[in-house]
Amino acid sequence: MSIVYLNGAFLPAEEAKVSVLDRGFIFGDGVYEVVPCYQGKPLRLKEHLVRLQRSCDAIQLTNPYDAEKWTGLVEEIIANNGGGNLAIYFQITRGVAKRDHAFPQDTTPTVFMMANPLPPPSQTQIDDGVACISMTDNRWLRCDIKSISLLGNVLLRQAAMNAGGLEVALFRDGFLTEGSASNILVVINGKLLAPPKDNLMLHGITMELVLELAAKQGLPVEVRKISEAEVKSAEELMLTSSGKELVAITQLDGKAIGAGKPGPVFRTLYKLYQDYKTR
Ligand code: PMP
Repeated sequence: MSIVYLNGAFLPAEEAKVSVLDRGFIFGDGVYEVVPCYQGKPLRLKEHLVRLQRSCDAIQLTNPYDAEKWTGLVEEIIANNGGGNLAIYFQITRGVAKRDHAFPQDTTPTVFMMANPLPPPSQTQIDDGVACISMTDNRWLRCDIKSISLLGNVLLRQAAMNAGGLEVALFRDGFLTEGSASNILVVINGKLLAPPKDNLMLHGITMELVLELAAKQGLPVEVRKISEAEVKSAEELMLTSSGKELVAITQLDGKAIGAGKPGPVFRTLYKLYQDYKTR
């Protein structure tokens, strides 16, 4: 049985209850994080906690815990759920209050954590890559906040699923932003490209790690705006996220990317990522 954390206590998921007046339920007024754990050890926890603080600051929500307290809770929830490979989800909402858009006074934030199994991408996904579709990015202009209000992302992801794809490649004003739940990296002329870390996309921890590993390996890396035409004619595309790690996109809108197989840059980065993860 899965053990979750709610407002100071660890308890079975079935027993965890939140008020219907919680602003997370009513308004999606909250922020969250997902931290991957391998063999019971969180990957890049410090970076996830820095991003959580950034999200809290952006929505004027006081982070109820400091990094030390969060680290302890992450260790505890891992232990309570048997260790191994887990995705630790945690969210903070603005708490329970009479429904009113304006912030309530003196409300205690609701803190919830859970640990879910984290299976690696399938061997087929690793060997063959995945299919994606392209769509217009119709979300709000603060995609850098890891907000629990995810309806835009949900609808985009579902559109990809309905079209037989795994993810969407999103474009705003003709330039790549990200996927519905992942970042997208592009290879052109052997160079690894990433879109600028601005307000139009989530600053992915996995993307940052992959860029770091690429640079360390001596691969050319550049952060710049990437046009839709460049993405569609790229040598390689890949997506990154804490849940999916690093997966090649080998088809976009039904057309092959590069040779239609995971390319050499992906294969190098995939190996570096797996080595890093097990270390
Ligand atoms: N963009 C979006 C919209 C996401 O939801 C996520 C996380 N699922 C990412 C990018 C990737 O971020 P990370 O590598 O930190 O998981």
